[in-house]
Amino acid sequence: MATKIINGKEVAFHLREELKRKVYELKAKKGITPGLVTILVGDDPASQIYVKNKKKACEKIGIYSEICQLDASTVEGELLERIRRFNNNPQVHGILVQLPLPKHISAEKIIEAISPQKDVDGFHPFNVGKLLVKKTMAEILKSEIFIPCTPYGIIELLNFSGIQMKGAEAVIVGRSNIVGKPLAYLLLAEDATVTICHSQTKNLAEITKRADILVAALGKPEIITGKMVKEGAVVIDVGMNRLAVGLVGDVNFNSVIEKVRAITPVPGGVGPMTITMLLLNTVKAAKWSAGL
Ligand code: NDP
Repeated sequence: MATKIINGKEVAFHLREELKRKVYELKAKKGITPGLVTILVGDDPASQIYVKNKKKACEKIGIYSEICQLDASTVEGELLERIRRFNNNPQVHGILVQLPLPKHISAEKIIEAISPQKDVDGFHPFNVGKLLVKKTMAEILKSEIFIPCTPYGIIELLNFSGIQMKGAEAVIVGRSNIVGKPLAYLLLAEDATVTICHSQTKNLAEITKRADILVAALGKPEIITGKMVKEGAVVIDVGMNRLAVGLVGDVNFNSVIEKVRAITPVPGGVGPMTITMLLLNTVKAAKWSAGL
């Protein structure tokens, strides 16, 4: 059987069309325009691109989007004050602080200052905690919790591709707060059996070879090779490594392609889904704030 290339762009396109209709309806029937503010501190070139792409994606489906660009020398107190003002602005439904922040600012403190009801990235401890205590995906989706965008996008990709998570052995390489850990909770809620690996894991290949669903989120170019993957596995490559040759993932695509049942490409896999789930969370924020 030929390997399925999981087309994130296509799935993202369908979801965004659906969201566009929802935004139109919110405006027409309730007079609500979902609004997202993205705060960028400093002039990191990659962050500039991400922020611009997010704004463009918002505008395409009718979400109001504003970039709050602050100088790299901005002090923590000034940033906290900006967040306080956006928290109190009813036109702003979602607030996103582009990471990483300059070293003199505590990301933890900043994330905690965002109102949990506007935390469309899903990084606030309130949303993280709520996600953790829910047992099933149905329970998560029923409650007003913001699910972190990249893990949420991965679950949607697996669902769209008809990949069974229930009972599957899932291995995630990477334990960050934005990808690995929240994804583990979501896969658990989908009834997978989950293992998380990290830089101190011994015999990594022995563990990855057990996976029915293998997620690579290490940020190390092409480190996952064919020898580390089980025949017939599904591989999700989260990695975005900018090299001279272009953007490459954490998986060595050519060495695993013959072995696996399905795989996400880089680019065009997880990336487009992350922005899509941000749009979805912003629409949810606008609806929830109006009690809808
Ligand atoms: P982090 O750097 O925060 O975390 C990387 C994780 O990988 C850590 O847990 C680290 O272990 C682990 N790790 C590093 N090297 C190894 C190794 N050799 N073996 C096993 N584990 C290892 O990265 P992020 O989670 O933020 O991002 C991961 C990748 O995903 C990056 O390439 C990033 O650009 C990309 N990304 C892509 C997104 C998208 O939309 N496509 C969105 C977000 C991220 P330890 O904890 O022990 O240090």
